[in-house]
Amino acid sequence: MYRCELCNRVSRPGERATKVVTQRRPTEYPSRGKAQKGRTSSRSKGQDDPGGAGYEIAKECIACSTCAQEHFAKEAAQEAESLGI
Ligand SMILES: [Zn+2]
Repeated sequence: MYRCELCNRVSRPGERATKVVTQRRPTEYPSRGKAQKGRTSSRSKGQDDPGGAGYEIAKECIACSTCAQEHFAKEAAQEAESLGI
């Protein structure tokens, strides 16, 4: 049992909790040379991890399935909007 952090409702016994990401922050990963130590096949030999940029989770909360679905739908709508679809 858990309390949904989005609607504050206490779950029914056996109800599944879903972790929902409510906030992300952009981040950059530096490149790492010789990152693939010990597992070098002929194909991956000499390839360094180039690093890059992405998003990491800043805030996460436990939600009931209803809230999680709502959240995912809202997030998908927001993404579609930002892409101009
Ligand atoms: Zn909820």
